[in-house]
Amino acid sequence: MGTVYAGAYAELIGADHEGYAARRLPDGSLTSTWTAQAADFTGYVAACSCGWHGSVDHPPTDDGEIAAAGEWHQTHLQELIAKAEAGWPSWAECVAVRARVVAGHVASGRPDMAAEIAARLEGEVATWRRTAQELAQEAAQSLTRGGV
Ligand SMILES: [Zn+2]
Repeated sequence: MGTVYAGAYAELIGADHEGYAARRLPDGSLTSTWTAQAADFTGYVAACSCGWHGSVDHPPTDDGEIAAAGEWHQTHLQELIAKAEAGWPSWAECVAVRARVVAGHVASGRPDMAAEIAARLEGEVATWRRTAQELAQEAAQSLTRGGV
């Protein structure tokens, strides 16, 4: 139906964001489905499967549909990517805190708790490792294309 982001931050952003051009119905509501009732829609509005929608009504034309889909990409998706990009420092702090908790449990004779928290930490680190690897691939592809 819509557009799903598959870039470096896709795993951190999650699968709840599929962008599409919703149709504005004469009663003001938005719909993502095509029905006979939706035939006399008044415009396209950028929308996302998470519930977000844009504030601009684009014309009920092919160009309007493209503009609405572009608005999802330029507005909502870019905000999600920027938020994920800004998460590196807090993630690093969280990893440091958890690592100290693991050490504390070992020191206080709770290796079972240490192992449980270390396993969670391992999963989180793996997610960010994959993200960093995706970023490295995107950077390499960008260089191959001449930085475009
Ligand atoms: Zn969304």
